[in-house]
Amino acid sequence: MLKDMFDRDFSLSFEVFPPKKDDEFENCYKVLDSLSTLNPDFISVTYGAGGSNSKKTVDIANYIQNTLGMDAMAHMTCVGSEANDILEVTKALEEVGVNHVLALRGDKPRDMSDEQFERRIFPHATDLIHFLNENTSLSISASCYPEKHPEAISMDSDIAFMKMKQDMGAEMFISQLFFDNADYYRFIERTDRAGITVPVVAGIMPITSVKQIGSTVTLAGSSVPKKLADICAKYSEDPEAMRQAGIEYAINQINDLRKCGMGHIHIYCMNKPKMTAEICEAIK
Ligand code: FAD
Repeated sequence: MLKDMFDRDFSLSFEVFPPKKDDEFENCYKVLDSLSTLNPDFISVTYGAGGSNSKKTVDIANYIQNTLGMDAMAHMTCVGSEANDILEVTKALEEVGVNHVLALRGDKPRDMSDEQFERRIFPHATDLIHFLNENTSLSISASCYPEKHPEAISMDSDIAFMKMKQDMGAEMFISQLFFDNADYYRFIERTDRAGITVPVVAGIMPITSVKQIGSTVTLAGSSVPKKLADICAKYSEDPEAMRQAGIEYAINQINDLRKCGMGHIHIYCMNKPKMTAEICEAIK
C-alpha cells in the first residue's frame, strides 16, 4: 500500500511515460525491469494529452503491477473526456489490479478548439476526483505546484483548489518539478497553513542536457535558478560534463530535502534507468 511509505522518513518513486509506438513496448519493459531493481515505492505512468493512447498507460501500469509485482500509479487526465471514457479506463485499471490513479485536468490538446476546451465536461481535476470517488474504489492522488500553476491567478487561489482536491478525496499530492528547494519549502509552509494534511511528494527532474532545460521550463513553467543556469552555460559544449553536473544538481536537491525532513521524492526519470540508478546510489 502506498500509504505505508509515509510511515518512513524517506520514500522514492519514479515517473515513466508509455512508448509512443506499438513496437517500442519491449524496450519500455526493459527500462521498467531496470528501474524495478532500484526498489522504488511505486512507479507512475503518464497519460497522453486529452486521453489519447490511454490503453498504453493501462498496459504499462499492468506490467508494473503484475509482471514486476510493484505498486503502479496510472495518471489520468479529464480535459477531453466524457464520463464513459473515464469509466472505461478505470474499469480496465481495476481489472488488472491497478488501484492508484493520479487525477489531472491535463492541458488543452493540440486538436481541441478553444470552444471545445471552454465547454469541456470535466472542467478541473477537482471534478475528476469527485467523479472517481463517487464511481470507483480507486485510491486518488493529485498534482500541486510549488511555483503555482501557470494559469492560476495567485498562489493562494491555487492552494485553495489544492485543498479542494484534498476535500474531494485526494489522498496524496505529487508536486510539479522545481529547481530551487527554497520555493518548495515556502510552498509547504503555505500548504500547511491552508490545511493540507495529506502527504506531499516532491517532484525532482534531473536535467542532463542543455536542450532539456528549455523544453522543461516551457512545459512546466518552473523557474531556473542562477546556479542551474550557470551549469548549463558552463557545460553547453560538453554533454557528458552537463549530464554529470545535472545529476549532481538533482542529488543535492534530494539530499537537502531529506535534511529538511521532506524525504518523499518522486523522480521524473524520463525512462532513463542508468541516470536514475546513479542518483539512487548517491542518495542511499
Ligand atoms: P487543475 O488542478 O484543474 O488546475 C488547473 C488550473 O485551474 C490551476 O490554475 C488551478 O489553480 C485552477 N483550478 C483548479 N481547480 C479549480 C476549480 N475547481 N475551479 C476553478 N479553477 C480551478 N499532463 C498530462 O497530459 N499527462 C500526464 O500524465 C501528466 N502528469 C502530470 C503529473 C504531475 C505530478 C503534474 C504536476 C502534472 C502532470 N501533467 C500531466 C500536467 C497537467 O496536466 C497540467 O499541469 C495541467 O495544466 C493541469 O492539470 P491539473 O490536474 O493540475 O489541473
